[in-house]
Amino acid sequence: MGAGPAGLLLSHLLATNGIESVVVENRSREYCEARQRAGVLEGGTAELLRSVGLGKRLDAIGMEHGGIYLQFDGSRHYVDFRSLTDGRTVTVYAQTEVVKDLIAARLAAGGAIEFSATSVSVSDVASDRPVLSYVDADGTPRSVSCDVIAGCDGFHGICRPLIPEISVYERTYPYAWLGVLADAVPSTDELIYSRHESGFALYSMRSPSVSRLYLQVAPDEKLEEWSDDRIWSELQKRFAVDGWSVAEGPVREKSVTPMRSFVSGPMRYGRLFLAGDAAHIVPPTGAKGLNLALSDVVVLANALRAALLSGSWELADAYSDTCLRRVWRATHFSWWMTSMLHVAPGADAFEAQLQLSQLRYVTSSRAQATALAENYTGYRPARLQT
Ligand SMILES: Cc1cc2nc3c(=O)[nH]c(=O)nc-3n(C[C@H](O)[C@H](O)[C@H](O)COP(=O)(O)OP(=O)(O)OC[C@H]3O[C@@H](n4cnc5c(N)ncnc54)[C@H](O)[C@@H]3O)c2cc1C
Repeated sequence: MGAGPAGLLLSHLLATNGIESVVVENRSREYCEARQRAGVLEGGTAELLRSVGLGKRLDAIGMEHGGIYLQFDGSRHYVDFRSLTDGRTVTVYAQTEVVKDLIAARLAAGGAIEFSATSVSVSDVASDRPVLSYVDADGTPRSVSCDVIAGCDGFHGICRPLIPEISVYERTYPYAWLGVLADAVPSTDELIYSRHESGFALYSMRSPSVSRLYLQVAPDEKLEEWSDDRIWSELQKRFAVDGWSVAEGPVREKSVTPMRSFVSGPMRYGRLFLAGDAAHIVPPTGAKGLNLALSDVVVLANALRAALLSGSWELADAYSDTCLRRVWRATHFSWWMTSMLHVAPGADAFEAQLQLSQLRYVTSSRAQATALAENYTGYRPARLQT
């Protein structure tokens, strides 16, 4: 269930093993392909996409990045991933493009994606023939009797509540991100993470002519109070360093995203498996959400291959634990980056000094910088079995 990155990639991977699937999505194709979200692929995620035939546009328009800038106290410091690790990098490639590639690949292979479905429901997950019911875009009621159902329906989906006695670990942060998509040539070669006394700001990009910028704001921030002029002037302030400025341009889109850490488990009940945001979300500061979703799906594809083709449910039984180990590492890293860079409302001078000390440590100690680089570029990827 769900035609986000997790559901679509799972369907693609299952197809390579000859396992049939139908992806049921309650939004339209246009909506799914235009939804602005993540933009940073770990090295292992980019490799995974290439290895399953999804590397063509990624290699043509993805931008390989070898580090990030950390900015604080009016100065900017480069964290060089390549030299801190064994040459690891990340690739800036928008989630919208990943989704477009996956939809195109599934449809070209004759895969079934039911967009704009309504009245979607799941039943009998404790049996060995769970049922997925929905009304298709033409208004015809459908019912699919399945071997398994993968709940890839995101944080607000309907699958997670079907797992009885699920444990939830959660942290909400007292701030949100105001995200801006602008037709502005990026003024930087790599992402800039800036801690400023007025709040955090992130400079990222989607292409050589489109910038994606974020400002820390209050969780209940009113978008209408942010004119384009106010946004640019706040960005100039939070990214200010001598002799450099943010290139401005027409703002195409703006939105406010709340910040939350959320982990739930187990990620399986009977024949229902959760993957991606349906089971866990992280604040975007560590650029992990999309990567985790795709990593879950590799573990799940391996498990379903063994279960459905060889009758061995061992990997399926281990699915939740296998995924959650990686999820918790990413949850810690995302929390750590978030806490180091954001200014919490009411934070005092003591807290500010601790953050600045941590930032000075990360940018001066090879050991600390290496820890950041290892986490940011990603953990050993789950290996796809074919
Ligand atoms: C506003 C925003 C900004 C983000 N920015 C970043 C970022 O900068 N970096 C980063 O790494 N991560 C970011 N993330 C997180 C990242 O985008 C997600 O981790 C990623 O989308 C997870 O993919 P998914 O397939 O698990 O879930 P989703 O992409 O949420 O896909 C779930 C799909 O299920 C569908 N669905 C939901 N309910 C139903 C239903 N009842 N029936 C049928 N279909 C249903 C939805 O329409 C959707 O298409 C952001 C997330 C949000 C919300």
